[in-house]
Amino acid sequence: MRACLLPLERCEVCRGAGRIRGIFHLMACAGCNGGGFVKPDGTALEYPELVEQLRLRLSMSGAERKRLQQVLERVGLQPVEGAVSGYQGNNKKGAGGAHFTGD
Ligand SMILES: [Zn+2]
Repeated sequence: MRACLLPLERCEVCRGAGRIRGIFHLMACAGCNGGGFVKPDGTALEYPELVEQLRLRLSMSGAERKRLQQVLERVGLQPVEGAVSGYQGNNKKGAGGAHFTGD
């Protein structure tokens, strides 16, 4: 079976949180099986289908984040650097201007 994105709506029982406050503790929302989304007719998705739909949305969200990151880097609003940049050049944190990273 090929996964396809189903139209979903926010669960109004938990307002999309997937959890509701019980008497003693938070518990999974029974209205949406803890997913925060329901089918357009308001019924909950069963677990395998819920997991698949959330996985598809997570993957779309990750791709969108990556795309936005590339846009930010292209226009120069976000410097392209990782942890390695802290180890290159002199950070002037050591004695006498030496290179010190503390690890
Ligand atoms: Zn819910």
